[in-house]
Amino acid sequence: MGKYGNDEQRWAAVQRRDGGADEVFWYSVRSTGVYCRPSCAARPALRKNVAFHDSRAAAERAGFRPCLRCKPDQPPLAERHAAMVAQACRLIDDADADTMPDLDRLASAVGVSRFHFHRLFKAVTGITPKAYANAARARRVQDGLAAKASVTDAMYAAGFNSSGRFYAQSPAVLGMKPSAFRAGGAGERIRFAIAECSLGPILVASTEQGICAILIDDDPDFLVKDLQDRFPRAELIGAEPAYEQVVSRVVGMVEQPSLGLELPLDVRGTAFQQRVWQVLRSIPPGRRVSYAELAELAGVPRGARAVASACAANAIAVAIPCHRVVRNDGGLSGYRWGVDRKAALLNREAGNA
Ligand SMILES: [Zn+2]
Repeated sequence: MGKYGNDEQRWAAVQRRDGGADEVFWYSVRSTGVYCRPSCAARPALRKNVAFHDSRAAAERAGFRPCLRCKPDQPPLAERHAAMVAQACRLIDDADADTMPDLDRLASAVGVSRFHFHRLFKAVTGITPKAYANAARARRVQDGLAAKASVTDAMYAAGFNSSGRFYAQSPAVLGMKPSAFRAGGAGERIRFAIAECSLGPILVASTEQGICAILIDDDPDFLVKDLQDRFPRAELIGAEPAYEQVVSRVVGMVEQPSLGLELPLDVRGTAFQQRVWQVLRSIPPGRRVSYAELAELAGVPRGARAVASACAANAIAVAIPCHRVVRNDGGLSGYRWGVDRKAALLNREAGNA
């Protein structure tokens, strides 16, 4: 029965401090009188003093006290960490350019050291607090642009004080950070998870730089294979509890595209593809453009066919909204993730679903 079914497996999990075993079982240490989560960072006990329990209540009934280090009587560490990071994200989201909290203020607001906070934030979101703050600012620029303010107004409102700086930063500002294009993701660690959204199973994957894939299909196995094919030389890491936070944000964005996605993207493509995707990111929810219009916006007026293949090569569904591109006569053309899903997304954005 599962990975932690017998004492031998449970002891092995304790020895490797397996966070996946947290909330599955607890262990007590007779010599100290405390019980712990399997992931507890305390000094390992001797096997002869250790017993396993299927619930924290069972451990307490047996007379053990919760460990002060891993706090097995409180919500799991991953949840507490996610809550701290969410609190910090809200502080960043609510700040404007002049009041943007620095690392020290964020750390003291959530009650941990500056160093610990930085590491924690990065573990939970995959990005640094600074990158998050830049993305939050970028989102404001996009909101400003979507509201049809002039670029200059949007730029000042978002706290960029010279247009030179705005354009120098604009790839990052639009929430896209092009990575050096390393063949097949060689040497990279890519975290991923599969969740369920209203469009079916959805896979979300991130490098250290940001989200590198959002894939949708009826078949979860195919999603994993698709990710492997796109990054055949990367180390793929699944099922990290801390990554759930990223996944739930992405699902939230899919369910309600007007929410936007404050997490940065790590886009992989040729310079031309990146330009097309950048333009796509500036098309607000509820608007549709034709391939001809998109080509025009991307600065290649006769390049409708080229922009169509750039759309088809997009690996980041919905966040790079290639579903907002329609045929010149307004009809729905193909969509990498299925024309039914495209129709569903467009309906939703038009407020019809
Ligand atoms: Zn402990």
